[in-house]
Amino acid sequence: MNRDPLVPLVASPFRHYINGGWETGATTGVSLNPSDLDEPVGDYVRADARQTDTAIEAASAAFREWSLGSAQRRADALDAIGSEMLARRDEVGRLLAREVGKTLPEALAEATRAGQLFKFFATEALRAFAESGASARAGVEIDVTREPLGVIGIIAPWSAPLAIAAAKIGAALAHGNCVVFKPAESAPGCAAALASIVSRAGLPAGVFNLVMGSGRQVGARIAAHPLVAAISFTGSAETGTRVLQAAAARQARVQLEMGGKNPFVVLADADLDGAVEAALSSAYGCAGQRCTAASRLIVERAVFEPFVDALQTKLAKLSVDHALKHGTDIGPLANAAQLERNLDYMRVGQQEGAQWLHGGRQLERATRGYFFEPALFIAEPEHRIAREEIFGPLAVVLRADDYDHALHLANDTVYGLCAGICTRSLSRARHFRRHVQSGLVTINLPTTAVEHHTPGGGRKASAYGATDAAFWTAVKTAYVAS
Ligand code: NAD
Repeated sequence: MNRDPLVPLVASPFRHYINGGWETGATTGVSLNPSDLDEPVGDYVRADARQTDTAIEAASAAFREWSLGSAQRRADALDAIGSEMLARRDEVGRLLAREVGKTLPEALAEATRAGQLFKFFATEALRAFAESGASARAGVEIDVTREPLGVIGIIAPWSAPLAIAAAKIGAALAHGNCVVFKPAESAPGCAAALASIVSRAGLPAGVFNLVMGSGRQVGARIAAHPLVAAISFTGSAETGTRVLQAAAARQARVQLEMGGKNPFVVLADADLDGAVEAALSSAYGCAGQRCTAASRLIVERAVFEPFVDALQTKLAKLSVDHALKHGTDIGPLANAAQLERNLDYMRVGQQEGAQWLHGGRQLERATRGYFFEPALFIAEPEHRIAREEIFGPLAVVLRADDYDHALHLANDTVYGLCAGICTRSLSRARHFRRHVQSGLVTINLPTTAVEHHTPGGGRKASAYGATDAAFWTAVKTAYVAS
């Protein structure tokens, strides 16, 4: 493990890591700091399809040795990655805050989570994936084992560039697979930092590869390449559908974790202060740029006015500023497209007659950045701002007549990622847990209070495919005559 601060984590230009070496690319791009556009994070290299092929071929060539090697070797490598990530969490967290605009505490928490995930998967590598089955015949034994798949293509978003990458890379390597990792173009520095830590963990050349570049060139190539056995994707539903089509065309295995329009229900019997606090954190933490963020606050009529008043009062006190500034509650939006998208939905909300309550303006600060005032509307269920994923600090409040109506509104969406409820009623909480159509559910907690080592879940347009060992391995059933 490298704790020596003299070994630089990563330096610009951020390069690909292919077959155990650092490589330049076909073209370059610039990673900007969304808190300060005059202070770029660094240049990064971008691959074309040919260079992507090189990484996939390297991963394929490394597969045999890696997959047949000892589980202890895999565990040790993952543990070393986790240890260095944790030892250098301040450095990695600062880079994350600079690159995607999370506040420093949010970024440090994600860097810590990423380190812990690698350590979790280190122990997972040592689990035995064998079961004995009962044979219908005398004198026959049945064993069910799970075998590594081959090359896994990992395509990730910018919103949690360390934690999502750690969850996927950790799982893939723990199960004996090789990896080609393609990060989002807004987070190449974080990806290169991760690759730098991985490069010191003693993996054989080719087991882990980082290839940066556009979704259309690099991502699409990974999804279509015949040597990629499976694709693990996190991103928008639109891109996920494209990845699914490419994978289906060649019958490759695929797992998609996609968008949401997550509901957060507040019943009249809830602890109102606690519910407002949880709603604030669910909707506006990480500037609402989390797949688990709640963007539909569904509030029972009896507490609607006090809830909205209390939330507005808290919103007005939030400080939106540079992600590294002490006291900042909400950092900037992560990139220009995100800012444009949120400003656009402000116009949509006003045009369709939703009642504007707070925020929604672009803000000027001491540095030039994508600062956006957290926004709140009272909306009707049919409004686009209440139906479409915005992915930012823009939430709507919907009125519910009673619990049944609240549950109906919660499920009235094409998405099904996560859902939350605040209530003191055990029976309502249990009913909600059973009947809300989502992969994750939180009770008297923010919707974002989830952990990455447990299944991500997700239904409807939010997810596709298994997330557990069934995805990362192929099952084999052996019949043995004794
Ligand atoms: P995105 O869909 O634009 O991009 C995701 C990744 O796909 C990027 O690496 C991108 O370069 C790549 N890509 C783009 N076009 C491609 C193509 N044709 N083929 C293959 N790859 C391609 O998403 P984003 O803007 O980076 O992230 C935000 C989205 O991610 C939101 O919708 C959010 O809800 C979702 N998200 C979901 C989860 C989850 O766990 N369900 C977690 C975080 C983010």
